Amino acid sequence: MKKTIRDIDWNGKRALVRCDFNVPLNDEGLITDDTRIKAALPTIQYLSEQGAKVILMSHLGRPKGEPKDEFSLAPVAVRLSDLLDMPIMFAASDDVVDEGVVDAVEKLEPGDIALLENLRFRKEEEKNDPDFSKALAGLGDVFVQEAFGTAHRAHASTAGVADYIPAVSGFLIEKEVKFLGDAVSNPERPFVAIMGGAKVSDKILVIENLLEKVDSLIIGGGMMFTFYKAMGLEIGKSILDEEHVEVAAGLIKKAEEKGVNLLLPVDTVCASEFSNDAEKKTVDREEIPADMMGMDIGPKSIELFTSAIKEAKTVVWNGPMGVFEMPSFAEGTKAVAKALAESDCVSVIGGGDSAAAVEQFGFADKVTHISTGGGASLEFLEGKTLPGIAVIQDI
Ligand code: ADP
Ligand code: MG
Repeated sequence: MKKTIRDIDWNGKRALVRCDFNVPLNDEGLITDDTRIKAALPTIQYLSEQGAKVILMSHLGRPKGEPKDEFSLAPVAVRLSDLLDMPIMFAASDDVVDEGVVDAVEKLEPGDIALLENLRFRKEEEKNDPDFSKALAGLGDVFVQEAFGTAHRAHASTAGVADYIPAVSGFLIEKEVKFLGDAVSNPERPFVAIMGGAKVSDKILVIENLLEKVDSLIIGGGMMFTFYKAMGLEIGKSILDEEHVEVAAGLIKKAEEKGVNLLLPVDTVCASEFSNDAEKKTVDREEIPADMMGMDIGPKSIELFTSAIKEAKTVVWNGPMGVFEMPSFAEGTKAVAKALAESDCVSVIGGGDSAAAVEQFGFADKVTHISTGGGASLEFLEGKTLPGIAVIQDI
């Protein structure tokens, strides 16, 4: 068990909080989606209410180690202040930490909230430079990890600071560790993993790790065609990971050896070209036309997969079943999302596109947990230790 912000008596203590305020901005520098800011509010409010002096830090975009106005966190400070309905002290230093910032932080009263400038204005941040880590750590008494999206990186603000002050998790990280961690290491069975998305190569390590743990493994999306190829099927113009056909064959064999029930789609929706308006045809997997490409799983596969989901007690899903961005090829992904929403199993969704699909189809509040970190959630599912999680103290 990891220590959380509930395990600290905050009264008068300085909480140095690593947030993920890496929000999209438009050409005018306005925030177009503040989901990530809103997600951090419960932790920030809790700390403030408990009497902590709250010092927030984040990166934004890729300023590449030098100050650039267009990547300033100033708009985030304004939005935070609006959302919390209280003033935020924006410590606008191009050096992120300097004497002025130290002085300003010293003047904070319990409950006050400050925001530092974009951490990546300093090249030392991504280098995990000890002096920069120490300078950041000097601003706080306790480090609060609240940025899952960068927890797989060992940067000064995500890992280095914890060499100097104790680290605990905020509410977002607590949830990620609980749901992703428990699903993989301590699942209620049957445990089913659903893998999809464009390429096998992105997900090999995840599949290998999950094959050690799951009862059933469902494969869909673009990667299914590399598995088909490994089975000796013709796949027409479907997306293929040529160099990974043997890897796919190896995974099929490993599933057999481990007694994992491997479910591959039995039919597919094909298109004449990569377009929503293309001519379509649903065929069994042995009959993919040479001049067409597979874009989604077919109705027989949907039935097969949804009945496996109905029996599951834990499901981890990463990667859409088809080209869900095109309505003509969204049915498979939608059906899986719906089956998860209707099931009372623990359902954990990792991966940016899968999360977007679940949101888009309106099932986001009917699944157990949607992970906020794309790369970080994949590394978690690969069974790796994330540096930003490893630094958090155990109870
Ligand atoms: P996630 O972000 O959830 O991890 P990925 O990034 O691995 O998922 O894959 C998502 C992409 O895979 C989507 O853009 C989707 O269009 C694409 N995809 C799914 N099925 C196919 C297919 N049959 N052919 C080509 N692309 C596909
Ligand atoms: Mg993706």
